[in-house]
Amino acid sequence: MSDSDVFVLYCGDLNGPCPRCGDAVSLHVAEAVDGDAVIWTVTSQCVECRYTDVIQDRPGMFDALDATIRQTLVARVGLTRVHADPVANRPLRLRALAMYRRHGATITGAAHDYAALTDAGITGTPAEAALLARRLTAEGLRVTLHHR
Ligand SMILES: [Zn+2]
Repeated sequence: MSDSDVFVLYCGDLNGPCPRCGDAVSLHVAEAVDGDAVIWTVTSQCVECRYTDVIQDRPGMFDALDATIRQTLVARVGLTRVHADPVANRPLRLRALAMYRRHGATITGAAHDYAALTDAGITGTPAEAALLARRLTAEGLRVTLHHR
């Protein structure tokens, strides 16, 4: 798979008010990994006035909606756990820490994340987990994904 590939991991529904007529609209949510980011696509469709809107954005750019979408995704599809074997990946620990640092973790945070990764694992939505696995695999680590 190339970095430009987008793959939809989940599609589901949320309910919300239509911005045009105020009636209930169906919000269709899809989550995907696009290159080195998780993106969400929210499609609004109103049965009453036929209002349709598609918003594609990355986490953090509209925070209130992010939290709602994420909660809904987790409630509907559960969490995926990324785990790395501590012994097999030990020679690559510094590379993993550097990867976490590049993505904004503090030194302490990176060490904490690596410890969690090689202990119980780190959980996220399917796309978040896929992105983390992709980043770690790019550093040479071997990781496993477990969905529940
Ligand atoms: Zn409407």
